[in-house]
Amino acid sequence: MWWLQRDVVSSSKPSPHLSWAEVSCHDGTPYPPEWRKTRLVVLTSVFEDFREYAGGYPLTIGSCFRTPRWNRKQGGAKLSQHVQGRAIDIHPHREMTLEGFHTLAKMFAKEDERVGGLGWYKWGVHIDVRSRERHRLAFWNQIPAGTLLHDTRIA
Ligand SMILES: [Zn+2]
Repeated sequence: MWWLQRDVVSSSKPSPHLSWAEVSCHDGTPYPPEWRKTRLVVLTSVFEDFREYAGGYPLTIGSCFRTPRWNRKQGGAKLSQHVQGRAIDIHPHREMTLEGFHTLAKMFAKEDERVGGLGWYKWGVHIDVRSRERHRLAFWNQIPAGTLLHDTRIA
C-alpha cells in the first residue's frame, strides 16, 4: 500500500482514514511510539482494507489504544488487545445495518490471516491483530447474552 511507504511516526495521520486522535487512548495518552512501526502499521492496514471491503463508507472509531488504567475503568479484560495496541472498535456507517456490518466483518476476518480476533457487539465490531493460534480466528458474539464483559473471552 502506498501510504505504508511513509514514515508512520512522523506522518500527520497513521493511515488515510484514521487520525492520531482516533488511535489514542480516550484519556489523552497517545498511541505508544514504540509500537507505531509494528503493531499500529498492521492494525491500520487491516482497518483500511476492511473499510474498503465494507464499501468504503466513513466509519467511526469507538476505541483503539487504551492505557491499562483506562482499560480497567472501562471494565476491559486485563490482557485486552486494546492495551497491547492491537485492537480497534468500529461502528458501522449509519446507512448500514448492524447485521450486515457484522456479516461483512466476519467474512473479511475469515479471509484475512492478519485478523486474530473478531467480536460482535451492539455498537459494531471489535477487530484485533493478535497472532492466530493454529490459524484459528478468535470469534465471539456478545449480542445474544449481552452480559459478558468486553473482551472477557480473549484475555
Ligand atoms: Zn474492543
